[in-house]
Amino acid sequence: MKLFNIITLFPDFFKSPLKTSLLGRAIDSQIIKVNIVDLKLFSLDKFHRCDDSPYGGGSGMVLEPEPLFRAIESVRNERTKVVLTSPSGMLLNQDIVQELSGEDNIAIICGRYEGVDQRVIDRYVDYEISMGDYVISGGEYAALVILDSIARYVPGFMSNPDSLMEESFQNYLLEYPQYTRPSVIEGLEVPDVLLSGDHKKIRDWRRKKSIEKTQKVRPDLYKKYLDIK
Ligand code: SAH
Repeated sequence: MKLFNIITLFPDFFKSPLKTSLLGRAIDSQIIKVNIVDLKLFSLDKFHRCDDSPYGGGSGMVLEPEPLFRAIESVRNERTKVVLTSPSGMLLNQDIVQELSGEDNIAIICGRYEGVDQRVIDRYVDYEISMGDYVISGGEYAALVILDSIARYVPGFMSNPDSLMEESFQNYLLEYPQYTRPSVIEGLEVPDVLLSGDHKKIRDWRRKKSIEKTQKVRPDLYKKYLDIK
């Protein structure tokens, strides 16, 4: 079973997401296990503090190395991959998700405040992962994204595993437009081809739309698509 250890100052953050929808069901049916590690319990301070001001000055607080070392050691074995959520990491993409989906034991560290002491990264971290070029106030948001995107590859997680293959970013293309009933709403029609029943035509149309959209909104991905084509 795939095990995720999430190291956080805010364990309650995960209560509802881990009970909801696909993730909730996967945990219930023991397809994956998520162990929420309360960083405060590893503090040496009697008030359970885990942060201190940065050497060299500057605003904000930094997560201390000692509680993090102890928390990581409490869950780590020789196979564990340690992930740090960080805006200075590499941008998460489907290739990294797929690579991590091959691991059985993943620890995700949720940063807070100004981030974590560099020595945590130097000693333990295998992947520093960013959600994008913007700042969020805690690694918990990112940890959920990382967890869910990897869990989707665990057999049994998706009710329909075929959708994994058809989704955006497979082959670096974004998904084609989707429609469902009714076929006309307030004068807005579903493209005829989707009602035609002609599977080859539908496949060709969807591919064309995927390519057009990718070229328009994500020229960077489109370039990768052309490279592998
Ligand atoms: N001072 C830091 C920002 C810290 S934000 C800087 O300027 O780089 C607090 C925490 O939120 C980070 O430690 C990280 O765990 C998380 N975080 C913020 N933005 C993120 C992003 N784009 N991707 C992943 N995690 C992020």
